[in-house]
Amino acid sequence: ATTPVPFPARVVVDCGAIAANVGVLREHAGSAGVMAVVKADAYGHGLVPAAQAALAGGASWLGVAQLTEGLALRAAGVTAPVLSWLHAPGAGFAAAVRAQIDVGVSAVWMLEEVAAAAREVGQTARVQLKVDTGLGRNGAYQFSPDGVTRSDWSLLVDRARALEAEEAVRVTGLFTHFAYADAPQHPTVLAQQEAFADAVALAERAGLRPDVRHMSNSAATLTTPAAAWDLVRPGLAVYGLTPAPEVGSSADFGLVPAMTAIASASVVKRVPAGQGVSYGHTYTTTSPTTLVDVPLGYADGVPRHASGVAEVLVAGERRRIAGRVCMDQFVVDVGDLPVSAGDDIVLFGPGTRGEPTAQDWAQAIGTINYEIVTRFGPRVPREYV
Ligand code: PLP
Repeated sequence: ATTPVPFPARVVVDCGAIAANVGVLREHAGSAGVMAVVKADAYGHGLVPAAQAALAGGASWLGVAQLTEGLALRAAGVTAPVLSWLHAPGAGFAAAVRAQIDVGVSAVWMLEEVAAAAREVGQTARVQLKVDTGLGRNGAYQFSPDGVTRSDWSLLVDRARALEAEEAVRVTGLFTHFAYADAPQHPTVLAQQEAFADAVALAERAGLRPDVRHMSNSAATLTTPAAAWDLVRPGLAVYGLTPAPEVGSSADFGLVPAMTAIASASVVKRVPAGQGVSYGHTYTTTSPTTLVDVPLGYADGVPRHASGVAEVLVAGERRRIAGRVCMDQFVVDVGDLPVSAGDDIVLFGPGTRGEPTAQDWAQAIGTINYEIVTRFGPRVPREYV
């Protein structure tokens, strides 16, 4: 037998926090259910364990972008309803039909491919029609482009109704996505709610009878209860983070960040004043000090933009990354703090031990916390607690 070789860093994922966060979101959702969004490896937390934790916390649906993600859930034995919403031609919808995955459909060509797959498998496909109520991204456009031509949405609805009559598909849901939910006062938030009500009315007038109608991401779930419909569809908040400081902090909502990124100190050395640190010597020591080499780099998801700006917790104190983040490592100037090789260096976590949060990292770097957690790559092992 071979002994497993440890990786000198880990991402600790608190599954209890994920379950509890779903509980918080359920309270905000009122009578609506919760679809926990677990795309992108559950925002870096690990697809299957995070999905199981979300279901344990009371989520009734799981949402993914890619079909491959939905199929991975099924392969792991997850039987809860799953919606997958991002496809390109040739997506392989037969596998979705067999696995009873709801296919999010944004265009007539998708609907035709799903219907063809359903005929091939000999089973009715479950589809949820996605309407673009103003995000300007995927979804069938709800509005006439010139005031005369029929909208993509109305064409999609009619084609779906015809395919329902053939029993090739069943429309189980209707959904849309906000552009500005993280700015709840923005006029598009109300405009998109009204537009979605119109889109639903058009579909229902055409004879569609969806089980679930949904539009709320994390921000809307937390701030705009009127948008909850039958289901809310949060991702980020499931993992204990909030989409923007203006929406409120995790603590404001009783959410607990589930991810803690930790590395073991590698080389620890004393250097004199005037030592340049890391590539390009963008940082130079100003007094005799201790440099700690931390074995995590941009290949692992530590953004190179964290160079010189993001902080880590070392020996109970916050210290800034010194010089450039490299592919596999970065350096921290810890002054006279007592640090030894093998000590834990906490990059970010829930903040309860004084460590920065993913939000602190995002703010320091000029990005969003979504990017901080989802970037942590597969090289770093996940530890589930
Ligand atoms: N619904 C859709 C269609 C999405 O693309 C996403 C993520 O971008 C979500 C829901 C979840 O959004 P958030 O993580 O902001 O809650």
